[in-house]
Amino acid sequence: MTAPFSLAGTKRFALVGARALASDLAPQAAARDSDGFAVVDILIDRGRIADVKPAGTSDFGDAPSIARSGRIVLAPFVDAHTHLDKAHTWLRAPNPCGDLDAAIAASSSDRAANWTASDVAARMEFCLRTAYAHGTAAVRTHIDSIGPQTRISWPVVAEARERWRGRIEVQASPLFLVDFVLDDAHMADVEAMVDAHGSNILGAATYMSPNLLNGLKKLFALADRKGWDLDFHVDESADPAARSLNVIADMAIVRKFPGRIQVGHCCSLSLQTPDEEKRTIEAVARAGLSVVSLPMCNMFLQDRRSGRTPRWRGVTAFHELASAGVNVMVASDNVRDPFYAYGDLDMLEVWREAVRILHLDYPFSRWAPVVRAAPAKAMGLIAHKIEPGAPADLVLTQARDFTELFARPHADRTVLRAGAPVGPPPDYSDLDAVEGLA
Ligand SMILES: [Zn+2]
Repeated sequence: MTAPFSLAGTKRFALVGARALASDLAPQAAARDSDGFAVVDILIDRGRIADVKPAGTSDFGDAPSIARSGRIVLAPFVDAHTHLDKAHTWLRAPNPCGDLDAAIAASSSDRAANWTASDVAARMEFCLRTAYAHGTAAVRTHIDSIGPQTRISWPVVAEARERWRGRIEVQASPLFLVDFVLDDAHMADVEAMVDAHGSNILGAATYMSPNLLNGLKKLFALADRKGWDLDFHVDESADPAARSLNVIADMAIVRKFPGRIQVGHCCSLSLQTPDEEKRTIEAVARAGLSVVSLPMCNMFLQDRRSGRTPRWRGVTAFHELASAGVNVMVASDNVRDPFYAYGDLDMLEVWREAVRILHLDYPFSRWAPVVRAAPAKAMGLIAHKIEPGAPADLVLTQARDFTELFARPHADRTVLRAGAPVGPPPDYSDLDAVEGLA
């Protein structure tokens, strides 16, 4: 075993013999092995990476060193689709049958009864502390924006974003059914809150509603006028007739929409006929949409019927989208709420589960961007490389290859931010008051 990180407080030190993804390194930083890793020595000085050299090729003088012995070091994760306002409500709002309709009903009741500003703030803070401890540097959350909740939640988001600035980049996108777009008072509230507290992102949940076309037209027009990006929950359904993804892609193409568009779920795409799936994917590629799959939540909610074993994993046509050149990624989605009873905003867990559910393996390294570079691109962020001048933000694991990385949860990982180790995830007892246990 490599010793736990032991240089807390040391400003200048070297990680010796660290195994890094070559795609996270500057080109030619070191020779890559067949798994796409390179073994390097990394010098850290006052919070930044000062030097990266092939292992054993340089002398970092009197800098104390930690032997990594070929253990994997990763750059921090980016989580492009979460629900920090819903998280950790399972005890208050359990989902008795585990399907999507019951989740929506349970969550709506809990929202109306319990989502005060302090309640949302406490759960959001717990989420961000957790994500930070697991090694995540950027999070996009959807914010339920319905009725009075819109004006309650958005100021809380803005406060959290300020509090976490420099540690986690927090982005937020409003969430409501596309039908609400036709309600002018609702849209006035949403526009005001995104203007005052948002991240220049507008969003909605789309399905085969009679209001789909008109709703999308209004959303695209508003985003265009404001210079905002778009982020949709799309076709979270096992019905192959759910095709709102096509409508979004076609509208983006016709309007030559200049902003970024992210679409999440797109479950029904993988149940359509091969021809239909291909046509849709071609439009998605042409429109330049980024697709985020939420494999843990999809496998929990989709194809669930009491007394019947699920046959379908619930996920979108991920490989086909990637082959068509679409920017694809995976993300956490819900955490301990009626939509997903588990989860911990741990992108290493999401990656591990995505490898298993979506077969993101052979070669593993081909898919490594789905937890970092791809979501960073979708969110308009720069994914820092492990190179001189970059912040010393690193996730140190005990694994030496991909099977070791994905076989264990790596709860013993060390997360460095600006060269200093961060603490463990918060204790669940911190939630007792909001969960009604205190
Ligand atoms: Zn979602």
